[in-house]
Amino acid sequence: GIREPININELAEECIRLSFHGFKAKEKYSKVEYTIDFEKGLPHIEVIPQDINRVLINVFNNAFYAVHDRSKTTEDLFRPHVKVATKSTSNGIMISVHDNGVGIPEHIKDKIFQPFFTTKPTGQGTGLGLSLSYDIIKAHGGKIEIKSDPNQGTEFVIYFFH
Ligand code: ADP
Ligand code: MG
Repeated sequence: GIREPININELAEECIRLSFHGFKAKEKYSKVEYTIDFEKGLPHIEVIPQDINRVLINVFNNAFYAVHDRSKTTEDLFRPHVKVATKSTSNGIMISVHDNGVGIPEHIKDKIFQPFFTTKPTGQGTGLGLSLSYDIIKAHGGKIEIKSDPNQGTEFVIYFFH
């Protein structure tokens, strides 16, 4: 792939739409909502667009899956929700993906980036998404961070540096 200057808001919006529609089509689930909170006027970043697309779609798919999973076990008042935000930082930009889904238990937090690690039923996950995402972000000189509490949700933050 060739690096190109891109606007992260445009790329993210396209990816979340693709992920959401794919998810709804597969899961026939309409209660999930998402919101976006994008900072305007962010500087372009030099990335391989197809690679960052794969990262974002995977992180969005994981988030939708997690809120859908939680909604099967919690009360009707639970509002499954995914929030995507972009922001500038002192040395680049960041994109964060927050979901109020099942969360990631402490004892598996250090495994989720390993190839083939998945907690999904056979056929629903390859366990390759985050390991690939980690490699792609690393190749771009960026960083991925996770914050998660069981039954509170999960936040993935991806940083790109100037
Ligand atoms: P897959 O989606 O195929 O399982 P990934 O590498 O994308 O593979 O994710 C690995 C595992 O990390 C998932 O199976 C799940 O256990 C955990 N995980 C990833 N994102 C989330 C999330 N937003 N909420 C809860 N668990 C997550
Ligand atoms: Mg995945």
